[in-house]
Amino acid sequence: MFIDSHCHLDFPELHVQRDSVLGLMRENGVSHALTISTTLHTFPAVRAVAEANPHIWCSAGVHPDEQGDDHEVSLPELLALADHPKVVAIGETGLDYYRLPEPLDWQRERFRVHIRAAIASGKPLVIHTRNAAPDTLRIMKEEGAEKIGGVMHCFTESQAVAEAALELNFHISFSGIVTFKNAVDLKEVAKTVPLDRMLIETDSPYLAPTPFRGKMNQPGYVKHVAEHIAGLRGISVEEVAKATSANFFRLFSFAKAA
Ligand SMILES: [Zn+2]
Ligand SMILES: [Zn+2]
Repeated sequence: MFIDSHCHLDFPELHVQRDSVLGLMRENGVSHALTISTTLHTFPAVRAVAEANPHIWCSAGVHPDEQGDDHEVSLPELLALADHPKVVAIGETGLDYYRLPEPLDWQRERFRVHIRAAIASGKPLVIHTRNAAPDTLRIMKEEGAEKIGGVMHCFTESQAVAEAALELNFHISFSGIVTFKNAVDLKEVAKTVPLDRMLIETDSPYLAPTPFRGKMNQPGYVKHVAEHIAGLRGISVEEVAKATSANFFRLFSFAKAA
């Protein structure tokens, strides 16, 4: 059984065909999913998906690119949102220097607030980083993120960044990008990340893996990410499924929540 460690089931593309999305999960052996919060105003919808489905959990947080809320999230507010049995992670948070121009002091401050919330709540971080790896790692270190750990989601960085994140007690999650023909360096990283620190995800509705590239992505397709990684490493897909699912449960401590 596979687990999609990062998807956005509240986004309209997936929301409108919820039944077929859940149906393909079942068909493809995708047993669980973590649906990820991106704004304060859509968080209730994210949590509602998790509340309605015993095999789906959610996170609480505000995406680094989001400017659509009427106020900046505070530490007490994040802690209040996280205080729910189906909320098992803080994020997605991090830094994104690709989409928005400097000054981005607010984005770095938002990231720090999320790390503090993760440490205070005991719920691991889901970190997004794009064109910002040095600052992401620096802030993780400054805030003591290794105390709580978490996952570098939709990983597209170098081997060196992967090693630095592993050293900080983080997992590395691969998305459909690893299946793309031109992702040559990333495929090398996917061969070397220790199997007991690896997760898989879709980041759906975006980034559908080969052979669905360009189409709407969905959690059921995480199976194709696992198959590709198994091929790269020369191991069975069952082995990838077993390891990444065990990592998921260990990281997000479902023994207690379930
Ligand atoms: Zn992201
Ligand atoms: Zn995401």
